[in-house]
Order: sequence, then structure tokens, then C-alpha cells
Amino acid sequence: ASSPTAPPAALAARAATLREQLERASHEYYVLDRPSLADAEYDRLFRELQTLEAEHPSLRTPDSPTQRVGAEPQSALPKHQHLVPMLSLGNAFSDEELTAWEERAVRLAGEDVRRAGYTAELKIDGAAVSLTYEDGVLVTGATRGNGTIGEVVTPNLRTIRDIPLRLHATNGVPAPTGVLEIRGEVYMPFSRFEQMNEARVQAGEPVFANPRNAAAGALRQLDPRITASRPLRFFGYSVVRPAHLAPLPFRTQWELLETLAAWGIPVAPSRKRCDTLDEVHAWASEIERNVRAQLDFAIDGAVVKVDPLRLQAELGDVGREPRWAVARKFAPDIAETTLTAIEVNI
Ligand code: NAD
Repeated sequence: ASSPTAPPAALAARAATLREQLERASHEYYVLDRPSLADAEYDRLFRELQTLEAEHPSLRTPDSPTQRVGAEPQSALPKHQHLVPMLSLGNAFSDEELTAWEERAVRLAGEDVRRAGYTAELKIDGAAVSLTYEDGVLVTGATRGNGTIGEVVTPNLRTIRDIPLRLHATNGVPAPTGVLEIRGEVYMPFSRFEQMNEARVQAGEPVFANPRNAAAGALRQLDPRITASRPLRFFGYSVVRPAHLAPLPFRTQWELLETLAAWGIPVAPSRKRCDTLDEVHAWASEIERNVRAQLDFAIDGAVVKVDPLRLQAELGDVGREPRWAVARKFAPDIAETTLTAIEVNI
């Protein structure tokens, strides 16, 4: 259907069908926490729509799923405006696509990008949240929502023991003053997810499809006691702060992660500072082949970030994704596909 020789009316109809399918899937995934499509299938349809829109820009509508983050927050929860938008990430499904991402970054910001290197991290398959700290004290926690406006879930996030209510000063790193937002992923470990589902079967309650949806659903409960009863954990990976405040004590993504850890924020294991993209390729493939199956939490790829924050700012964002970071997606996880299949059979 994406052939450039096909009649525009057929392509426009295909684009409309894809938009509708992706919209419905996003609503099920982000709002109902009950997807009916596999993530890989969603990614395939998304890529087809992106390709159609790139070949025929007139097919790109402002409300296309390719132009937006997440879904509109619809619950009865109060709303929170993020300091700066919480974006999605572009995907690289192969080493070639990852190399193309680097080439574009070099075209835009010069050879400094290659010279500076990368921080490579696990891509946690959870629910994105932002934690606002004032003078080191947690004051607001919110979901990503549509990227600009999220839902306030502070009482729920306070029930997660991983999340410090006050940031520490350790290893010579002072706790931050003023306002900042720490962003990261709320997730549910596989082992705890399985225990929880077994208990639900015993109690005659419906089981959850996978840890991601269980975590996202637990987070958006109106009653924090329900959230507290679900085994949620947190990993942080980013910090934002109003420009007029004193700069924070790090200049690179690598130092940012070290600083988060010093403040008492859990940071995902297995991160790597890579001098070259070849090192990133090798690390990502090692994680996919040998590390992923050992982890007690779901990952769906590696996230590669240009290391210096100065270059990140220079590269900036395009639409729903930053130019300075990309997700190197892994093949779908068999264990998770099986879990979904079990749920469907119950
Ligand atoms: P994404 O999950 O592909 O990538 C962006 C997100 O990655 C960020 O917002 C952040 O929350 C997360 N992340 C995890 N680890 C990170 C790290 N170390 N550094 C930075 N960010 C990190 O994008 P998305 O916009 O959240 O969701 C789109 C994806 O969700 C799709 O690719 C698909 O897999 C899934 N989805 C599935 C369905 C479905 O029906 N199955 C529907 C909608 C979306």
C-alpha cells in the first residue's frame, strides 16, 4: 500500500485506517491499560504510517499518532503541567538504523557528537513518570499523559519505597536546592508480577496481561491503598530544571545518572559509557543476547544518548522525539508474548 505509484486516494485511505487503528490501540494501552495489539504489531503499523507520511507529507495530519506522545489524560485525577514536555523516543530497529541516527546527529551538530561519545542505558518497559522535588523534597508526582499535561498521582508514587521522599547528599554531591523534575520509569518486577497474578487467580480476580500494564494501571488508581498493595519499583534516568535556576552538578548524561544515584534515586544496572557507536552496537547486542533474560524486569531495547548535555541542547527535539537520543529496539520478548497468550486463554 505504500508504493509511490498507488493512487493518492488509496494511500489517503490507508493512512486514515492506520491512524484509526493506532488511536484505538493507544487508548487501550495508555487509558484502559489493556492492549489488544502486541507492541511489535503496533510498532509495525506506526512505522508504516511514518513512511507513508514521509513519502506524502500532505497525508500528515496534526493529530496523527506520529505527531503526538501518549494519550490524552482522561481520568478523574488532577492534572500537572510538566516543566518541559516529556517526549517519546525515535526507534532504530537495526544497527543500520542506529548508524543513520548518528549520521544525522553529526550532520546537525558536527563531529563533536562522535568525539564526545554516548551513554547507553536499558530501555525499561514501564510507565513514565515525573517527580517534582522542591529543595530536595518530593512535592508532586505525575504520569507522562500527553507529554505536556500528566495526571497527578503523588499519593500513589509516595507508596513506592524506591522513590525517596527527600533527596540525600552523599559522596560529596549536595542535595539540590530549588525546583527540579526527576523523570524515570515505574515498573513491576517479573517475580512479583507472577506472585501477584497467582494470588489474583486464588481470589478469583482477573489477572494482568503483563508487568507494564499492571504497573501503569496500579499507578493511576484513585485509591493509593490499591497502589500500595501492588509491587511497584522505580528507575530514574533524567532531570530537568527551569533555566533560571543554578545549574546542576553534571555536564553529561553519564554524570547525571551518577548524580541521581548519589541522591538516592535507583538507577538501572548495566549502563555503559561508550566512546564509539561500535561499542554501543556491541553492548546492545550483548544485552539482548545474554543479559535480558537474567533481568527481573522487562526491557524492550537500549536507549542511546549523546553524552554531553550541551550537545543534547544543541540537537534539540523534532516533533515527538529528541534528536539526541534513540531507542535501539530488541526483538519481541518471547516470555511476554506467552504471558499475554495465557491471559487471553483464561
Ligand atoms: P517508547 O516506549 O517506545 O519510548 C519512549 C519511552 O521510553 C520514554 O517516554 C520513557 O518512558 C521510556 N524509557 C525507558 N527507559 C528509558 C531510558 N533509559 N531513557 C529514556 N527513556 C526511557 O515510546 P512511548 O511513546 O512511550 O510508547 C510507544 C510504544 O508503546 C510503542 O513503541 C509500543 O511498543 C507501545 N505501545 C503499544 C501499544 C499496543 O497496543 N500494544 C499501543 C501504544 C503504544
